[in-house]
Amino acid sequence: MADTIFDKIIKKEIPADIIYETDEVLAFNDISPQAPFHCLIIPKKAIATINDIQPEDAQLIGQLYLAAAEIAKQQGVAENGYRVVMNCNKDGGQSVYHIHLHMLAGKTLGWPPYSDKVKQI
Ligand code: 5GP
Repeated sequence: MADTIFDKIIKKEIPADIIYETDEVLAFNDISPQAPFHCLIIPKKAIATINDIQPEDAQLIGQLYLAAAEIAKQQGVAENGYRVVMNCNKDGGQSVYHIHLHMLAGKTLGWPPYSDKVKQI
């Protein structure tokens, strides 16, 4: 599979505003923020979509959420709260095929996070 833009950020081939890093997880500010604070939390392992997560990745996925909680503390938003969301494929709005948690904070976020009418499926 070809490198995504996030693989290039992991390899430090292109710049990003990195705010958190461990051996397995990286977080950096989103280039097009949708809230006063908007970062992306990614595994360094390349996993294209939620559909590609394997049972052996369960610990790694847990680390993404532990990173979110740690970043929330660092950013001072833990108490007020924040949202984490992971998009999957076209209908989910995924544009970069390397799984990532969006972490949004800094204002009261609306719900639902889409504008079109809900249709039963
Ligand atoms: P998705 O649409 O796949 O759920 O989210 C991809 C996110 O990656 C978008 O919010 C987009 O703004 C962000 N993004 C895309 N390219 C770059 C980049 O080169 N640098 C950073 N920091 N964010 C990016």
